[in-house]
Amino acid sequence: MHPDCERILLTEEEIRLKVKELAAQISRDYADKELLVVGILKGSVIFLADLVRNISVPTCFDFMAVSSYGASSKSSGVVRILKDLDQGIEGRHVLIVEDIVDTGLTLSYLVENLKTRGPASLKICTLLDKPSRRVVDVDVHYNGFKIEDHFVVGYGLDFNGLYRNQPCIMVLKPDVYKGG
Ligand code: 5GP
Repeated sequence: MHPDCERILLTEEEIRLKVKELAAQISRDYADKELLVVGILKGSVIFLADLVRNISVPTCFDFMAVSSYGASSKSSGVVRILKDLDQGIEGRHVLIVEDIVDTGLTLSYLVENLKTRGPASLKICTLLDKPSRRVVDVDVHYNGFKIEDHFVVGYGLDFNGLYRNQPCIMVLKPDVYKGG
């Protein structure tokens, strides 16, 4: 385990099995359809890469990058699009793939934004969910794990850009993110 972390929350094997389970469910639900998976950069990248390789229906993927305006405006749910989709989504079956839903502000903004573009359907898949932190309701259709309110890293999730390449999900030591 990485020395900056206090414990492993989810092992590689637990994640691998859950990703397969989610992909199987998604493949059943979209059986006769073509799917457009929209990954939210950068945290979803590892999850998305594993997920789409287990999905059996025809699947395209694209990415968006968003950033909050900062602490004061974060509660308003205003997020800035840093990178938009490369393609239109009108009439398409869109599945947003996110690493974690926390307050729900990012996803609720994205859902409202993407809805205006006229997709045939719009659903959300997250690997992790911290329900105790929710500020706005978000309809999450596929969720891997519900977790307690810990700051976690690994499997795509970062702190200051680090730890994304760690294969499991770990709880970061508080003195690391509180600066010693
Ligand atoms: P929300 O808008 O739901 O509050 O924010 C979701 C985003 O916050 C996630 O995409 C992720 O970037 C970040 N986030 C929330 N909780 C954690 C966590 O425990 N670890 C990491 N690395 N990022 C988190």
